[in-house]
Amino acid sequence: MTPSHWYNIVPDLPAPPPPPLHPGTMRPVGPDDLAPLFPAELIAQEVSGDRFVEIPQEVLDVYRLWRPTPLMRARRLEKALGTPARIYYKYEGVSPAGSHKPNTAVPQAYYNARQGVRRLTTETGAGQWGSALAFACAQYDLECEVWMVRASYDQKPYRRSLMRLYGATVHASPSSVTSAGSKVLAEEPGSPGSLGIAISEAVEVAGASDDTRYALGSVLNHVLMHQTVIGEEALEQLPEMPDVVIGCTGGGSNFAGLVFPFLREKLAGRISPVLRAVEPEACPSFTRGVYAYDFGDTAGFTPLLKMHTLGHDFVPDPIHAGGLRYHGMSPLLSHMYELGMFEAVATSQKECFQAGVRFARAEGIVPAPEPTHALAETIAEALRCRESGQEKVILTALCGHGHFDLAAYDRFLGGEMEDFSLPEERISAALSTLPVIRTPSP
Ligand SMILES: *Cc1c(COP(=O)(O)O)cnc(C)c1O
Repeated sequence: MTPSHWYNIVPDLPAPPPPPLHPGTMRPVGPDDLAPLFPAELIAQEVSGDRFVEIPQEVLDVYRLWRPTPLMRARRLEKALGTPARIYYKYEGVSPAGSHKPNTAVPQAYYNARQGVRRLTTETGAGQWGSALAFACAQYDLECEVWMVRASYDQKPYRRSLMRLYGATVHASPSSVTSAGSKVLAEEPGSPGSLGIAISEAVEVAGASDDTRYALGSVLNHVLMHQTVIGEEALEQLPEMPDVVIGCTGGGSNFAGLVFPFLREKLAGRISPVLRAVEPEACPSFTRGVYAYDFGDTAGFTPLLKMHTLGHDFVPDPIHAGGLRYHGMSPLLSHMYELGMFEAVATSQKECFQAGVRFARAEGIVPAPEPTHALAETIAEALRCRESGQEKVILTALCGHGHFDLAAYDRFLGGEMEDFSLPEERISAALSTLPVIRTPSP
């Protein structure tokens, strides 16, 4: 059954996460600061202290198009690996956009439409968020304008087509239609773009217009909360409780969506799974970033967020997992990582594609490049079980399909894929421009 409520983990934490700060005053941002960007209901959810928030009927009506999503046991993968581990995956690729992103795109579009907003702007990396929001806007008669990171715009023309088919307008980012984009283009005409730059462009346009708001596909508390439908369903569907839960992290929303309900049960002492986030070696915000206040975007338009970050100037190498190319990480997850509530590891691009191919050959589903990170770690865990003879139960988030990513698989199968090593100097250079946090003005 699709759950009737989203789960908000914040009131169950031992301490609340540090608040976002206004970069001018260095004081916590209030609802008024956010009102030009987000509708009132989402701002309320962002700071809500309620453990459960009811899902509106109009949202459930749209969720019904693909929810509940399947929870599958990967028996054929287990057999291929010769592991005594039992592997389960929660598959979000059955949604209209082919990923978990519509779980939050739909309520975000709904609350905006209810408040009388006419147009939403957003950024997209791999194109998954852009297509999810374009679909959601079509449900509630909203216009949708998307800035798509240049590297993906060129690599994934069919994601562009899908957004247009749903009715959205798509720009390659950096674009010349915003001042943030023009500035980057002036400095680097061939810039591959980044999520940070694309966010600056979408925020700039939303902030300049009364009937327009901005929508973010990850990172923020309300986004993570909307995704908890994944974990709530999995809790109900699983025939046995997991020993290990594994998910990939870009901004953290699919990982949080799967693990938060399990963490609630863990905090209540009913289960005790190990929870593990997996990120790309090319963009390792948990494992090599710092926990500090930083901007969410490149131009510095957003509030300062306390998060694991590689610096807002960091432009990750153009790996195929576009959804994981973000310099920062959800502030809520960053806070929980500092509290030791879950683990994080990083994997290389080739190891991930190897896992994606293995999974596809055994289970039939072609995974998106992002969840191949979770699959690589799932396979590594299952192989450790083979060595030790442990019969662990592993649960992983297969958060999207890779039907739009076949060119990347072709490159891997043709032996043309590269791994990017990330020298420490590049991280320290980007971290040198972290904003200086002053004491608040009186
Ligand atoms: C966007 C996306 C991601 C990364 O975002 P998270 O917020 O970390 O989930 C991962 N996988 C897929 C399929 C995506 O579309």
